[in-house]
Amino acid sequence: MKNILLIHTGGTISMKSDEKTGEVKPDAKNPLMDHINDIPNTVLITTELFHLPSPHITPKHMLDMKNYILKNVKEHDINGVVITHGTDTLEETAYFLDITLTIDIPVVLTGAMRSSNELGSDGLYNLLSALKVATSDSAKNMGVLVVMNDEIHTAKNVTKTHTSNVATFQSPQYGPIGIVNKDGALFHHKPLTGRSLSVNNLDKNVLLLKAFAGMDDSLLKAVSEVKLDGLVIEALGQGNLPPALLPELTSLLKRGIPIVLVSRCFNGVVQDTYSYEGGGRHLKELGVIFSNGINGQKARLKLMIALENTSSHIELESIFTD
Ligand code: ASP
Repeated sequence: MKNILLIHTGGTISMKSDEKTGEVKPDAKNPLMDHINDIPNTVLITTELFHLPSPHITPKHMLDMKNYILKNVKEHDINGVVITHGTDTLEETAYFLDITLTIDIPVVLTGAMRSSNELGSDGLYNLLSALKVATSDSAKNMGVLVVMNDEIHTAKNVTKTHTSNVATFQSPQYGPIGIVNKDGALFHHKPLTGRSLSVNNLDKNVLLLKAFAGMDDSLLKAVSEVKLDGLVIEALGQGNLPPALLPELTSLLKRGIPIVLVSRCFNGVVQDTYSYEGGGRHLKELGVIFSNGINGQKARLKLMIALENTSSHIELESIFTD
């Protein structure tokens, strides 16, 4: 018998579609609360921590989830955790938990692209798949996982790639690490797991900007006017920026604001290859920190959490190599 902590947080998986207007919205009652009861050899300890569409989820909610999981795993004999979540920011919550949780039991997030009463609704199916993974011994020590559409993905690599397709969650560079079938979870890869970072507060303001052809310094100027503790920039290609950004970028770095570079390409890592003005080598010489293949939204969360632990440039660089 396995004890599974099932945490509902909202999202389309917990919503209903209005048959007349077609609009999808949360109902007074979460439809998932009625449906999942009798899973063989499994005791579900179910809670509705939030009932929010995921664009309303903030890092503070993620911290609350992390604390709720740790408290319950400590107090009860929990063998696995499943979290239902809106898909829009699911990868961010998954990654937040991945880099902050220090438990070896399976932790699995899932969601749905079609609401509970729509034709071809994928919610209940995904939830059952997530439960299969969370009860599997082979899902231990795999880091936080995302299970959707019969696939098992790591929190580090997975991203939402399609606005509406049920196969939206993909791990562009490396693919899923397993599949779910009628019998349960079947893993074909084991991820390398990085170090975990401790987090008790989230007071740092870290912003995310995306670079584009012909970008001038107006966004960087605007960003430098607000209370800023760190900045992530989705750079071009291997990690290059338009030269018009350099004076403002240099002044932010001189103020001691850490700037982390990711690529707006969804495969590959940023590198200090190009030495022209604004090229990766130039940016590295200026003190920009290079990440190791995570996307902008995940790097932003990582920098927020890292800054709660250290302000050392060397330490931040090392955190972003994990
Ligand atoms: N907008 C919804 C949300 O993230 C989408 C979903 O759950 O699939 O809450």
